[in-house]
Amino acid sequence: MGRTSKDKRDVYYRLAKENGWRARSAFKLLQLDEEFQLFQGVTRAVDLCAAPGSWSQVLSQKIGGQGSGHVVAVDLQAMAPLPGVLQIQGDITQLSTAKEIIQHFEGCPADLVVCDGAPDVTGLHDVDEYMQAQLLLAALNIATHVLKPGGCFVAKIFRGRDVTLIYSQLRVFFSSVLCAKPRSSRNSSIEAFAVCQGYDPPEGFLPDLTKPLLDHSYDFNQLDGPTRIIVPFVTCGDLSAYDSDRSYPLDLEDGSEYKYTPPTQPPISPPYQEACTLKKKGRLAKEIRPQDCPIGTVDTLPQ
Ligand code: SAM
Repeated sequence: MGRTSKDKRDVYYRLAKENGWRARSAFKLLQLDEEFQLFQGVTRAVDLCAAPGSWSQVLSQKIGGQGSGHVVAVDLQAMAPLPGVLQIQGDITQLSTAKEIIQHFEGCPADLVVCDGAPDVTGLHDVDEYMQAQLLLAALNIATHVLKPGGCFVAKIFRGRDVTLIYSQLRVFFSSVLCAKPRSSRNSSIEAFAVCQGYDPPEGFLPDLTKPLLDHSYDFNQLDGPTRIIVPFVTCGDLSAYDSDRSYPLDLEDGSEYKYTPPTQPPISPPYQEACTLKKKGRLAKEIRPQDCPIGTVDTLPQ
């Protein structure tokens, strides 16, 4: 595959490089803002699951805060530095990371918390949806500690079978909850974004990091009647914007001539690096499947 073929297949990938964004995801946040004016009046924001950092780039350029720390970016992966963005490397589902973030906002809460977190997908839909929900709830838990009243929370969500449970939990804390799908998010993906505005926790609610928000005592299938919350679904991004599921010719419709642009910021320590090095040396082991082994040898497979 030539290095230009991805540019042809994915117009947002190409435009991201040409506009200096570290990832095509930047367009998702920009299109969400077009619809919901997320950045209006925002001076302090948290970007959870931020690497390689295109949402942090957008935030640091669009919001009115000054100096380092008006945007706090958190990710498992190391991220190349960005001006005005304070970075925390850690797992948002871990207490120690949550505490570090919360400490930063003590006495000076945030206006906006965003989370574009995605677990490594397994292809097992139920598992992927569950993991995604855990990430979202970890992000919500952090948001309840750092958001100021009226603040906004935006998080990636997988529109799976049990998504109404999540909507119901979000509605406990926000006066408005919507599900939005930006043009730059592929139709073929179950990804969408929960846009929660007007942070307004129930009276007497005390944020507590020791109590996970996902309440396993719920029976998912019994959410009906008044407990079943149906949230509005909104698409955003101009309808004339590029369709993320289409391939476009390399010369764009506005007549601009194609010129290859390298990625703005290649990942500094990607998790697949070790596999690439092993592959180059021809030392990447092939998966051993039980059906390929002679009968009776399966128990001796390496663990
Ligand atoms: N919004 C980012 C941007 O614009 O550059 C892209 C985010 S990428 C789709 C998802 C990120 O979620 C990955 O960088 C991954 O490391 C991070 N992630 C997944 N699980 C996490 C966790 N438990 N804690 C922190 N980050 C996590």
